[in-house]
Amino acid sequence: AARMKRGLPEKRLIPNVSNIVAVSSAKGGVGKSTIAVNLALAAARLGVSTGILDTDIYGPSIPTLLNLEGLEPELDSHNRLVPLTAYGLKAMSMGFLVPQDSPIAWRGLMVQKAMNQLMFEVSWPKLDLLILDLPPGTGDVQLTITQSLQLAGAIIVSTPQDLALRDAVRGIDLFKKVNVPILGMIQNMSTFTCTSCGHNHDIFGLDGARKKCQELGINLLGDIPLDAQICRDADNGKPTVVASPEGSQAQAFTNIAAEL
Ligand code: ADP
Repeated sequence: AARMKRGLPEKRLIPNVSNIVAVSSAKGGVGKSTIAVNLALAAARLGVSTGILDTDIYGPSIPTLLNLEGLEPELDSHNRLVPLTAYGLKAMSMGFLVPQDSPIAWRGLMVQKAMNQLMFEVSWPKLDLLILDLPPGTGDVQLTITQSLQLAGAIIVSTPQDLALRDAVRGIDLFKKVNVPILGMIQNMSTFTCTSCGHNHDIFGLDGARKKCQELGINLLGDIPLDAQICRDADNGKPTVVASPEGSQAQAFTNIAAEL
């Protein structure tokens, strides 16, 4: 009621879902969706019943990452969207609602309607964990989503580059403003180990996120290297956690998922 008085929408739970964890990045292209899908798959492999909800209106990539492109979800008898399943993971994406190749020039109202459908009109089975893949940035869409849902916490993805980290701080401020606990940051695309010379190269810098986390007093949840295999697996629609479950990258994602 106090929130209503301040003009804020009441935060709502999603039916059947116990914990919603948002994966966010202030910048596009830092690997947010790749991290979100691998974390969700790692959690599912740990026996946690898990779903992923892709609310990235302008570039939904979960259908591609899970090899579900071109599929359309069915509606149940209450007109709710039925999630699709890939590798034991339940998935719903903006990409299933809009044709992939059509330029998305939606008006605000249509975006709002689709968002509401994605947030509240999906017939999830009982889920312990729903990973929410947010659109990049810290604008109105992100604000609406984070104000509408009762989130257990948020994970910020950033590269070690100063430029990305500066924006990441803005993302952290957004979550603070709407009272969402920051679970921590994941540093992505850090060290690249050259497959021919074996040397390590720190293309976007070495320890930027680690230092930033110390400075801000938040957890560094994990550190994922720049690895061509992660990129290839993504394009193949079989994320690294399921493509090479015994590899070191899958282990890194599993370690993070176990902490959620
Ligand atoms: P975002 O969701 O932040 O826009 P994506 O998850 O779509 O970013 O990733 C952007 C690109 O970078 C994709 O081509 C993806 O395959 C690639 N990528 C992401 N993380 C890594 C990584 N650790 N190593 C190599 N490529 C990566």
